[in-house]
Amino acid sequence: MRKRTFLKLKMREARFISRALASSRHPVLAHLIPMRRCNLACGYCNEYDHTSKPVDLEIIKSRLDKLASLGTSIVTISGGEPMMHPELDQVIQHIRHRCMIAGLISNGYYFTPERIKRLNKAGLEYLQISIDNVEPDEVSRKSLRVLDKKLRYLSEYADFHVNINSVIGGGIKNPDDALTVARRATELGFSTTVGVIHDSDGILKPLSAKEKDIFQQVKKMGNKDHARLNWFQDSIAEGKPYNWRCRAGARYLYICEEGLVHWCSQQRGYPGIPLEQYTMEDFDREYKTEKWCAPTCTLQCVHQVGILDNWRDPQKTPAQIAQEQKNGKSVGEMIGAD
Ligand code: SF4
Ligand code: SF4
Repeated sequence: MRKRTFLKLKMREARFISRALASSRHPVLAHLIPMRRCNLACGYCNEYDHTSKPVDLEIIKSRLDKLASLGTSIVTISGGEPMMHPELDQVIQHIRHRCMIAGLISNGYYFTPERIKRLNKAGLEYLQISIDNVEPDEVSRKSLRVLDKKLRYLSEYADFHVNINSVIGGGIKNPDDALTVARRATELGFSTTVGVIHDSDGILKPLSAKEKDIFQQVKKMGNKDHARLNWFQDSIAEGKPYNWRCRAGARYLYICEEGLVHWCSQQRGYPGIPLEQYTMEDFDREYKTEKWCAPTCTLQCVHQVGILDNWRDPQKTPAQIAQEQKNGKSVGEMIGAD
């Protein structure tokens, strides 16, 4: 990433953080799914299919317009594999046109020099690729050996920030792979993060001594800002629940390919309201709702958004909120009461 572009991006980030601290009444980050289809089939993933069609560009643009009207700061395009969407460049252009920061999460398979130059031109600002292992296996083909050439292209041509995320725990066969991936990413000039994941049965278990050691080493190599924002991972690494306030459905939005707002990729169906009908009343209700899944949640980006408001506005259980609504209190009054 060119130095001037990097500085401009840092200034925009500083502006959105100040704005998010000054007011809690707009979404900070939205993940938008332009197609569910993926070219891979990772064993742990519940976010893809092999058949769905890309969402029509005009529909995506209208969803982006709605996110902009809610005051959203960052839109990250995710999937499935979003690089399979034939009009991805126009989607990114529209995010920038509506003055929001444009990010992308991809498995990395489709990057060529020509494709990277088109993404530069469209105005992409952030890219994250997760690499699960060094050699492909039956669980994941998001592997360093397969993707190394793509990473070299990105290092040479990308004018956007690239972050490489490695993973540890959750039965990943070889924990040393996370270190190999992070070293290669650093060598190529990318930032790195490491995700701690649950076992496949969803149970929170402490990392083994070896995994913990590698986790700390990878964290040290990574982006200092991310490390500061990911305190929760230390608890998860110890197998302990983490006490925080998840603001999904409000400060963080997950918009599926059908245009419904969900808490996140792992809690689809709540609240399940069409984005075009989403109001600040929905926003306020979800902002105030305590999420039952929060203590063991490993979703880094939602934790990072949560930090902005962890110090204010305690949450209530859905039952308490329903009772207060039944008693005739508006959500606005409930917030005022705090
Ligand atoms: S590449 Fe991503 S979306 Fe596709 S199957 Fe793997 S984890 Fe799921
Ligand atoms: S706590 Fe985690 S899993 Fe639960 S809604 Fe929030 S982001 Fe999703």
